Amino acid sequence: MSQDLDLELFNLTKRYGKTVAVDAISYHFDAGTYACLLGPSGCGKSSTLRMIAGHESVSDGAVLLAGRDISHLPPAKRGTAMMFQNYALFPHLSVLENVGFSLKMQGVDAATYRKRAKEMLELVDMVPLADRLPEQLSGGQQQRAALARALITEPQVLLLDEPLSALDPFLRIRMRGELKRLQRELGITFIHVTHGQDEALALADEIVVMNNAVIEQAGKTRAVFDAPKTAFVAKFLGSHNVVAMPEGTLAIRADALELRAPEGARLPGTITNIEYQGTHVALTAAIAGDQEVTALLSDKEFFGNPKELGEAIGLDWEAAAAHALAS
Ligand code: ADP
Ligand code: MG
Repeated sequence: MSQDLDLELFNLTKRYGKTVAVDAISYHFDAGTYACLLGPSGCGKSSTLRMIAGHESVSDGAVLLAGRDISHLPPAKRGTAMMFQNYALFPHLSVLENVGFSLKMQGVDAATYRKRAKEMLELVDMVPLADRLPEQLSGGQQQRAALARALITEPQVLLLDEPLSALDPFLRIRMRGELKRLQRELGITFIHVTHGQDEALALADEIVVMNNAVIEQAGKTRAVFDAPKTAFVAKFLGSHNVVAMPEGTLAIRADALELRAPEGARLPGTITNIEYQGTHVALTAAIAGDQEVTALLSDKEFFGNPKELGEAIGLDWEAAAAHALAS
């Protein structure tokens, strides 16, 4: 992708009265990246997305696309498009008319916008349902229609606010595969807001972890997962233990903890929970300092030498599997 379509946030700030929802965040999204904004409810994800889209005014700072300040342009003039959490389809319009709506508003004639709408429906495999009303669609089909509607303006950046949250878990995993495929085919930037770490890990080339209106950590997905910098990021990404040791606080991946005899292990403890997860067993132990850690053992490893609740064990790890955390 040409770098002239990069998206840049510069000290982007949103205030609602006295609430600072987004506090001077800066970030550079390379064109063609699938990025996830990840963080707990209320941390400022939607506000950030809406400022990029132009559905919310910028209190301070700027949004630049292709080096151009788009902060004060109306949504339709930015080169961005947004897909909303509840899809926001017009209930009284057919799928085809919903998809063609923004072109119609731009004054494009009926034959042309309907033809373009059909092309978009082809992209999301929805042509046979073109004449249906939104209420006659399943959740997954509504999502496809909303995607087609967002894409018809040929945005350079597609903004998706919790696009999978209305779907049941099974469909969510299928639709996330489709989102990824679509992004790869179109080669445009996707910025996808989610509070689900599994969703972010599955989709994102880059993860931006937000907390309390600021970016806590951002970068290539694996780099962030492999080396969380703060306890918040380690806990939010999951699969990590945050352990206070005399020499400092460590993040240790649950799958890196190895079962040992209590004597000589760095973390001696007592088993408080054993959870069977099919391919793995999650074993939780109480350790010194009133802390708990969880080790994710393969089913083979666990059942080759099964343990019981209350049993004394030791847990240890290879040096590279732990990271010191900033407080
Ligand atoms: P997220 O999408 O991460 O859940 P939001 O961006 O929706 O977070 O909200 C960030 C903060 O801003 C929250 O404290 C929320 O209550 C507040 N907020 C969001 N929208 C408004 C609004 N329209 N008016 C006042 N406060 C708002
Ligand atoms: Mg939100």
